Amino acid sequence: MKLERSAQLYQRAIAVIPGGVNSPVRAFNGVGGNPIFVTRAQGPYIYDADGQRFIDYVGSWGPLILGHAPRSVLDAVARAAKDGTSFGWATEREVELAEHVTKAVPSVEMVRFVSSGTEATMSALRVARGFTGRDRVVKFAGCYHGHADAFLADAGSGVATLGIPGCAGVPDGAVRDSLTVPYNDLNAVEATFSEHGDTIAAVIVEPVACNMGLVPPSPEFLPGLRSVCDKYGALLIFDEVITGFRLGLGGAQAHFGVTPDLTTFGKIIGGGLPVGAYGGRRDIMRVVAPLGPVYQAGTLSGNPLAMAAGIATLECLERPSFYSDLDSRAKTLTDGLDKVLASHGNIARVDRVASIFYLWFKPQSDRPARSYDEIKSADAGLFVRFFHALLNQGVTLAPSAFEVGFVSNAHELQHIEATITAVDLALKSVLG
Ligand SMILES: *Cc1c(COP(=O)(O)O)cnc(C)c1O
Repeated sequence: MKLERSAQLYQRAIAVIPGGVNSPVRAFNGVGGNPIFVTRAQGPYIYDADGQRFIDYVGSWGPLILGHAPRSVLDAVARAAKDGTSFGWATEREVELAEHVTKAVPSVEMVRFVSSGTEATMSALRVARGFTGRDRVVKFAGCYHGHADAFLADAGSGVATLGIPGCAGVPDGAVRDSLTVPYNDLNAVEATFSEHGDTIAAVIVEPVACNMGLVPPSPEFLPGLRSVCDKYGALLIFDEVITGFRLGLGGAQAHFGVTPDLTTFGKIIGGGLPVGAYGGRRDIMRVVAPLGPVYQAGTLSGNPLAMAAGIATLECLERPSFYSDLDSRAKTLTDGLDKVLASHGNIARVDRVASIFYLWFKPQSDRPARSYDEIKSADAGLFVRFFHALLNQGVTLAPSAFEVGFVSNAHELQHIEATITAVDLALKSVLG
């Protein structure tokens, strides 16, 4: 590993940007060492400032389901850019992307585009509160819904990586109405509703938890949330910022057959440009201004370059065998990793949902995790050593023991085989 240029850039960065980064996990605090600076990327590869190439499973933290710099998306963005980068007026591309989304996800009868997943969840909560006239929200420990105040209690992703219990700067009042319960714990949800039911506006959940490692829902969890919400007149919000267009065109709601009232999107829906979206039942979405009294707006919302990238991406995903191909590649990867891990005494296990995977060390169980507590019991120290050893072998995982990996359709068999070999070599060097 060469780090000359990345180290120089990092020194410049820390003088002018907090921690040298514009999103905390990138700073490598979770794994130590000098963050790598990326100059370009193509297909399954990223290239760093020192000219090194890595097979990348971060995929910009989820959006890049087609791999890096796919030709069709680049062309669409270039065509859009020729017409101007932003107008602040209504455009046809917004209508077109909204039509793609509402067609793919039938529970979303109307959709509003924003510029990030954070804005999407924050706005969906406001809509739920405006629609129900209630204030409280139930969320789950270890789920991440972006960095809006109301969601920064016991959150996943960077909050988990940095071990931050709450968040400074968030007034008590902003999280007073946020009730946090353990993931997959329907009894806790029911207890919370029996105490506060008539004041709860919504339950927000990652239908597959992907920001505290990978925690799939137990079979009864999502249907259980649906019926509790129905019983008490609260709205069910699926935060599909990761799972949307990842678990299939219809997202987690189609995959598990549970229909939420509101859905939030981000990541894939913008094809690598800054986009988020929230949508749902028509009667609920009609509270959004200018139709109704819930204000939500954005100077760059529905940005033409971002809409073009989103449309070009969804058009690829709409190809008939897209998801079966992608998921079988991911399965080839995790099957191969299973064998390698077995040959190392099952020091770690790898879990997978569709094309999302997660590798964790010294798990206490022989099944996927069911809660944040279980993930927290993993051996993060061993992950740190493995992360660096794997980087040395030319493969990037996210620099945190709490983040998942993403397989894209640019990961071909040769890249997957090279990854399996790299993991084997990395484990040999870590375990001596
Ligand atoms: C990434 C993420 C968000 C936040 O999206 P940003 O675009 O980073 O603001 C919200 N919810 C989930 C489930 C996410 O994974």
